[in-house]
Amino acid sequence: MALLEVEDLVVQFYTENGVVRAVDGISYEIRAGETLGLVGESGAGKSVASLALLRLIESPGEIVSGEIRFRGRNVLELSADELRALRGDEIAMVFQDAGAALNPVYTVGEQIAEAIRAHEAVTDETARDRAIDLLERVGIPDPAARYSDYPHEFSGGMQQRAVIAMALSCDPALLVCDEPTTGLDVTVQAGLLELLADLARESETAIQLVTHDLGVVAELCDRVLVQYAGEIVERAPIEELYYDPKHPYTVGLLASVPRVGDGRERLTTIPGTTPDLVDPPTGCRFHPRCPYAEDVCAKHHPELVETESGAPDDGDFETHAAACLEYTGDLEDGLDYEVQVRDGANGDRHERTTSGDPR
Ligand code: SF4
Repeated sequence: MALLEVEDLVVQFYTENGVVRAVDGISYEIRAGETLGLVGESGAGKSVASLALLRLIESPGEIVSGEIRFRGRNVLELSADELRALRGDEIAMVFQDAGAALNPVYTVGEQIAEAIRAHEAVTDETARDRAIDLLERVGIPDPAARYSDYPHEFSGGMQQRAVIAMALSCDPALLVCDEPTTGLDVTVQAGLLELLADLARESETAIQLVTHDLGVVAELCDRVLVQYAGEIVERAPIEELYYDPKHPYTVGLLASVPRVGDGRERLTTIPGTTPDLVDPPTGCRFHPRCPYAEDVCAKHHPELVETESGAPDDGDFETHAAACLEYTGDLEDGLDYEVQVRDGANGDRHERTTSGDPR
């Protein structure tokens, strides 16, 4: 059984300009111990989908419909006490801005110890010892001494490690990381990614990783969901997504990643911008930006369906699926493109040619 099952989740925000459907009917699962990436441009609804898991959507937003089942229980029906127990104990979150997540007037160690005491009846001494252990586990040097440091005495990378330590303090089964490495320099970023990968391996903690960075996803994830304009447009195991992307949006995202030595003078971009979710495009939401769009694309909304290379969907969610009319048989001319993608894990170039570069 999946650890987390999200089914047909819809989250709306009520604004002066109208109702924004930030998350529009997404469904996915996460198994115990796996790392799932959620990628897409800003405004795709990735962070909103993650906040919804812990019912952290605030007014003027609202979870309108759908189900979020964690270990079989519907999170949307939990009482306030049950929800408090779920947060931290079973699902923990790591946000992008570690500085904002830490209280500047308490020491880092005390904040981790407080998180432990909030969920478990332990003595102050035990909480302190465990906080020091956690600081060591996330790679803070001389953790006993650094326990008494205030957040401003930590670097940005160390602050993010401290926040991860706090998130791990109650040994959650699922860690939701929202752009955890954005804004950090590349060496610090690499260290944090290694830390998350080690943690996932050692403690079998499942991770939902929200990012716009395809390189980060390649380093860490087992499977990927590509989100566009509030919907999931592609779902695939990591290698399939990089070597054989199916949705034109994913192809565009991969083509826009700069690569050393590929001889391009200009970066490839996806034309246009993400749509206004108050009044999204009819049919396929990507059609105004899609170089392969046909008339039918503005009329029919494509569902997420298994692609040719995906195994039949018999409950095994490790299949390859895309929301494009090509895979429902409704596209007359068919997709026809060439992609050059790099395996982010080892840097090898892989080419797949079907013709023409995505414009
Ligand atoms: S359905 Fe049409 S517009 Fe949408 S991604 Fe496929 S080809 Fe492009």
